[in-house]
Amino acid sequence: MIGIAQRLDRLGIPLTEEQRMVGESAREFATRRLAPGAAERDRTMKFPLEQIKELGALGLLAMKVPIAEGGAGTDNVGYVLAMQAVAEACASTAVVLASSNLSSKILSEHASPAQKERWLRPYAEGKLGPASFALSEPGCGSDAAALTTTARRDGDAFILDGSKMWITAGAHAGIHVVFVRTDPGTQGPEGISCIVVERGTPGLVIGKEEDKMGQRASGTVGLHFEGCRVPAENLIGRQGGGYAIALSALGAGRVGIAGLCLGLAEAALAAGLAYAEQRRAFGKTLTEFQNTRFVLADSRMDLDAAWLLTLRAASLLDTGDRAPAESSMAKLFASEACARVVDRMVQLHGGYGYSRDYPVERIYRDARVTRIYEGTSEVQRLVISRQMLRE
Ligand SMILES: Cc1cc2nc3c(=O)[nH]c(=O)nc-3n(C[C@H](O)[C@H](O)[C@H](O)COP(=O)(O)OP(=O)(O)OC[C@H]3O[C@@H](n4cnc5c(N)ncnc54)[C@H](O)[C@@H]3O)c2cc1C
Repeated sequence: MIGIAQRLDRLGIPLTEEQRMVGESAREFATRRLAPGAAERDRTMKFPLEQIKELGALGLLAMKVPIAEGGAGTDNVGYVLAMQAVAEACASTAVVLASSNLSSKILSEHASPAQKERWLRPYAEGKLGPASFALSEPGCGSDAAALTTTARRDGDAFILDGSKMWITAGAHAGIHVVFVRTDPGTQGPEGISCIVVERGTPGLVIGKEEDKMGQRASGTVGLHFEGCRVPAENLIGRQGGGYAIALSALGAGRVGIAGLCLGLAEAALAAGLAYAEQRRAFGKTLTEFQNTRFVLADSRMDLDAAWLLTLRAASLLDTGDRAPAESSMAKLFASEACARVVDRMVQLHGGYGYSRDYPVERIYRDARVTRIYEGTSEVQRLVISRQMLRE
């Protein structure tokens, strides 16, 4: 099977040397530092803190932050290539990268110069560990505008009360980018603001870690705010402008999740092909059966289509286009193509595909959540159709 570099050449989308280098250096790190312990971390749910710190020092937690602000200055195409390479080795680490990059991009785009000096620069230099993006709550995910965590103004501070749920890397994050209702009289998107809460702030209680089906080492926790007092100067952007900040970050972040899906699916396809080439049944290798060939062909086609949609969306984002429909198409198609490919590769492994001794079993579990987080498949379809109807 040809490698990723040649596969990218065959897509007909020109990549710059810099974009290739970003992908290749992420792949080198992932192969050396992430792949070896991925199965063990899946079993133990051990958060890859050391590796995340190293990724931070390499600039991968603030990839889309300009160099002048301490980030790596990577464009969206480079970001996709890095996410793909990391996810091929360890999807848990990749989703931590996704939420950290989501948060750092928000700070880069909306924080004041003083806030950037205080959080973004040390964070981008890898000194604060990962960052968390805290929008979802026990009572709302897709309908994020229904959030009920409040931040009541009290002199020169906000007092936060309420709970966030499903927060990736929440127990390890140096900073939390939290979405709260600053005006309790409002409903829906109005009155939602974005506030930074630093690790260890009194009143911030880290909840229990979720025992998940897949991506088990990503440290998914609840965050509880119990009279948590945060300086008013931690408000990011304008009061009441938080919902727009969240939506715009999520829109651009979707290409990263598409890249993550491509990482998982390429890993599964490579494992499936290798297995089919050596497994014998009825006196033949599996690759001699027509069905195996059709399965491989359909999978390759699915993934090339996902690559094309993903790189198209990333390229549009790099021109300054918000590309909401294209980003949603990339995430939706890549996550659903990933599901098809991974399922076929488990099937190709027969009984061994159902055993923890084979990587496809973990990939199958890791892949499932990609149709749920950062906007479910249904929400992506809503975004795409709204653009068509110009709503
Ligand atoms: C492992 C993991 C990590 C996560 N990390 C984070 C994180 O770091 N930060 C964060 O803020 N959140 C995070 N999330 C939360 C995630 O974004 C939400 O789970 C997701 O948005 C779905 O929200 P929900 O779970 O409340 O489901 P619901 O919104 O209750 O949806 C339930 C079902 O109803 C469907 N549905 C809802 N509304 C509509 C509609 N209008 N039309 C059609 N169908 C609809 C959904 O598609 C879904 O199938 C994470 C979740 C998981 C599982």
